[in-house]
Amino acid sequence: MTQRLIIAGGGLSGVLTAVALAERRPDIDLTVLEAGPQLGGNHTWSFYATDVRGEARDLVAPFVNHAWDGYECTFQDFGRQFSTGYRSVTSDHFHQVAMGRLGDRVRLGVKAARIDEAGVTLESGERLEADAVLDATGPRELDGVVLRWQKFLGQEVRLTGPHGLTKPTIMDARVDQHDGYRFVYLLPFTEDTLMIEDTYYAEGAAIEAEQLRGRIADYARSRGWTIAELIREEQGALPLLLSSDFDAMWASAAPAHGAVPLGLRAGLFHPVTGYSLPMSARTALEIASMTGPISTPAIRARVEKFARRHMSRSGFDRLLNRLLFLAGEPDTRHRVLARFHKLPQSLIEQFYAGRLHPAYQLRILVGKPPVPFFQAVRVVPESAALQAR
Ligand SMILES: Cc1cc2nc3c(=O)[nH]c(=O)nc-3n(C[C@H](O)[C@H](O)[C@H](O)COP(=O)(O)OP(=O)(O)OC[C@H]3O[C@@H](n4cnc5c(N)ncnc54)[C@H](O)[C@@H]3O)c2cc1C
Repeated sequence: MTQRLIIAGGGLSGVLTAVALAERRPDIDLTVLEAGPQLGGNHTWSFYATDVRGEARDLVAPFVNHAWDGYECTFQDFGRQFSTGYRSVTSDHFHQVAMGRLGDRVRLGVKAARIDEAGVTLESGERLEADAVLDATGPRELDGVVLRWQKFLGQEVRLTGPHGLTKPTIMDARVDQHDGYRFVYLLPFTEDTLMIEDTYYAEGAAIEAEQLRGRIADYARSRGWTIAELIREEQGALPLLLSSDFDAMWASAAPAHGAVPLGLRAGLFHPVTGYSLPMSARTALEIASMTGPISTPAIRARVEKFARRHMSRSGFDRLLNRLLFLAGEPDTRHRVLARFHKLPQSLIEQFYAGRLHPAYQLRILVGKPPVPFFQAVRVVPESAALQAR
């Protein structure tokens, strides 16, 4: 008998999982329920080419609509070009590609009112039963975590003339500093269109949208650019993980008799950037590689194992966040980030890909410490941050 699987939430993690399942498990009757009018919402998701390898790269490749063969970073006293590839996926393109692959497996404009391990009840009252239910409805508050934020407002704009950029600027930190650590992020899409994002590594998640729009306008002027048209705007506050107690986190992410959590709500993101695209691709493949009959408990156990492994492997990233946010004053963040971007390119690639070699971990920590030694020692234990939160 055909088995049924429902994915509530047609955003990044829900769609990547659906596409991986549609390709690898055509025997499963799959439905994606999305509350919004299109899949993917309003995002530009980017990642380093080295963040996704093998099957994960193949899974995300059709969604990529902008690719560059390098990027740059600029700080007060130095700038650097990197040859690591950089990729972006815009949500409009994501929607089109996903609809092409999933077709009538997708129901748009339907909001789940209740999601449990046996099915989904829609706001309309309709009940859909399934053998397995995945909850990919986006971030939720999690227990057992200490967070800070990478928050931003980005505007995709058309200029009156060419901007002159050929590759992304991941950090232009020569700007006035506010709210922790501020930088501008630039993605040149065409000769005269680009995304300008005003970004902060901050203590709080609140975004003063008008203020950030003003700063984007000032930045454009400072570069000699005149904005002819605002094409679209997006904003977000991405979680940066300083400390975690996995069992407490998972108990809130996946309550008993609940569906399998995916994406940000499962804590599956890079602790230092809050980016989740690579982890979402890997989780999707993990689920789609399961053989035999499916069930919510079996998939939940598989995703829990995967999330626990991710959490235990990313302890060094959380330590770096504690050093960045708890040991130093906010104005030392600029120096920490500048120093990091002087390290070897291969180290930086491994760091963002979550595969940092232990010898490289030491390399990041040694040298002239940007934070006072005694303050640094105080934040080393993960438990201390959890208690002090
Ligand atoms: C503006 C922005 C830019 C980002 N840029 C990057 C980036 O460059 N790279 C990166 O790796 N990460 C990025 N992130 C972080 C992260 O990857 C994204 O937030 C990502 O979309 C999270 O994926 P998700 O599947 O957990 O949730 P989402 O993609 O938010 O998906 C949740 C989906 O569930 C739907 N939904 C919610 N409730 C219901 C309901 N009750 N019933 C039915 N559907 C429902 C929503 O409409 C939405 O489509 C960005 C985040 C934001 C906000």
